[in-house]
This record gives sequence, C-alpha cells and structure tokens, in this order.
Amino acid sequence: MDEQPLTAPKHRVPASYLGREMDDLAERLNLAKIEDALYFPKYFQIETIRHCNARCPFCAVEQWDMSQPLMRDPLFDKIVEELADYTEWVECVNMTRSGEPLLDKKIGRRIKRVKDAGIKFVSLTTNASLLNEKRGREILEAGVDQLLISMDSVDKEEYESMRVRLDFDTVVDNIKQFFRLRDAVRPETLIRVRAICPHPEKPERQEAMRRWKAFWEPHAGPDDWLQIKPLHNWGNAKVWDAEDDGAYSDDEIDIDPCIVLWSTMHITAMGTVPLCPHDTDADVMLGDINKNSIADVWRGDAFQAVRDKHGHGRRNEISFCVGCRSFDPKHGTIELDG
Ligand code: SF4
Repeated sequence: MDEQPLTAPKHRVPASYLGREMDDLAERLNLAKIEDALYFPKYFQIETIRHCNARCPFCAVEQWDMSQPLMRDPLFDKIVEELADYTEWVECVNMTRSGEPLLDKKIGRRIKRVKDAGIKFVSLTTNASLLNEKRGREILEAGVDQLLISMDSVDKEEYESMRVRLDFDTVVDNIKQFFRLRDAVRPETLIRVRAICPHPEKPERQEAMRRWKAFWEPHAGPDDWLQIKPLHNWGNAKVWDAEDDGAYSDDEIDIDPCIVLWSTMHITAMGTVPLCPHDTDADVMLGDINKNSIADVWRGDAFQAVRDKHGHGRRNEISFCVGCRSFDPKHGTIELDG
C-alpha cells in the first residue's frame, strides 16, 4: 500500500514546551521539528505473548495481568495492515514487550507477516532458553533483522540466581549455536547480547562484566554488540535490590522529557496501549488498538496529555517517570573502567 502523505498532526507543540530539550529529542529522532513525530510512531514494541518461562528477581513478572496472554490473530492482522501504510516511516518493530517471544508458537509466521508487509527492520528480544536450532532457523528464515539476547553473567551460579528457572548451559549453547546459524542462514541479522549489571560502580561487578565481555567477544561479528545496561525498577513498580531503598536524591530526578513518548508505541497482547515499556498492564492507558487505529491513538488526547506533562517539565506528576532514566542517552550503556 502507498505511503500516506505527511498530514498535519492534530496537536501543535505549545510554545511553552521546554525548548532545547524538545529540539534535542527531534534531533535524536532525525526530525526537523518535534511536531513531525506525531505523524506516526517510528518504533513499536508489540507483545504477541505476555508470558515468561523465567522468574527474574528484578522483573515485575509476578505482578502482570495474565488474563489474556496471547495476542489474537484478528488484532495482530489489524496491526500489520496499519503498519503496511507507513513502511517508509517506521524504523523498527520489536515483536517483544513483556514476556518471552519464543513461547509464542506463531512468532516465526508473525515475523514473516510484518516483513512481508514491508517493515524494514524487525527485532526480537529473548532470554535464549528456547532458542534451539529449529527456533533459531525459523526466526532467521522469517527475516528477523536483529536479535536482542538477555544474558547477564558467564558464571553459572550467578546467572541462575538472576534468570531463575533458566539453565545456564542450555542458554550458552543456544547463543553460541545462534551465532553460527546466523552466519550460515542470514548473515545480515544483527545479534546484540545484553547484560544487566547491578552496582556497576563496584570493582567486583566491573571484573565480572569484563569476564562476560571476553567470553562473548570471540563469537560476535563486526556489527554485533555486547552491551552492559544498568538495572531499572520498572517505573518504580519493582524495587528488588536490598541496597536500594527506592528513594531518589535530587540529582536523580530529571525533568527532561522522555523520548519514548514521541518515538515508540507499545501494544500489549490485549491491544491496549500503555505509557511505555515499564507500564506493563497499561495503568496509564493511552488507547486500545481493538477500537481505534494506531494513528488515532498516537495523535489522541490521552497520549498528548502525557506528552504535555513531559514537555512542560512536569513528568514527575506521573509516578512511573519519577527518577526513570531508561531512555536517557547518558545512562543507556555502562562502559567498563580501564
Ligand atoms: S520516563 Fe521512564 S517511566 Fe516515564 S515514559 Fe519514559 S520510560 Fe516510561
């Protein structure tokens, strides 16, 4: 289907918005002005399944609403049909949100549907526990462009204490095999292995991360990434760290607007549109794709109301956003000392 003309968004950005900060967001999104972001989301996280085979202590999985864990086909079809109208605009569709996407038996076919609709870049995020040769081949042949793999430690005991219910040896074997499969089946697919690192300031954590990096480096291709990320607390929904009292110092509370509200739409398995990746059950409900189009929700009043708070430096009126640095470029990746 043809790309639609860039229509004027319903809402104009008020002159009272933070100036430099909004310009920074526009630059990060490669837009001339931030108003252009209201045309359509450039990024998506689509949860085809909200179920997980792990019980990581830093995840809020036990609190999720699991009443409808699998996205129904009519809703998925509606989303794909709407995406097909914006193939030049959309930068990336990650077919994961909350949960392990390889638990969705249709995930290969669903990736292929999105690719066949013309989306340039389709991504998946997995814990790799189910990434055996069959499933690896399936997603590669479906056309997945990027696989983000959550793998936090190369110490079996530590790994299994972080990724509870998963088996370290299976995960390591699956990842190594997937690197080889990728090279053979679809060399252009990018692999990003990512570790969450609590307390990166501690020398023993730095050392553990050096070992992690040295372990994976021989397997990674020149365009692959090994990324170490700070822990987050799911928009204040989960404080798991015994050393963290959940309080923020003044310098930890930003007022900068969060890019996610201008860049990314998250769609749950039920079709609801939450605030962001941390709002698992759409407590801040921005719309419902069963009832409205993606474009209408994106340009709608509920989305605009949260953008207005962020744009006016009032993001801390939203409890999820207090202290959140998830999309702050200064806090995205941990660099190791030395
Ligand atoms: S600041 Fe954090 S909680 Fe708020 S919208 Fe952005 S990612 Fe979500």
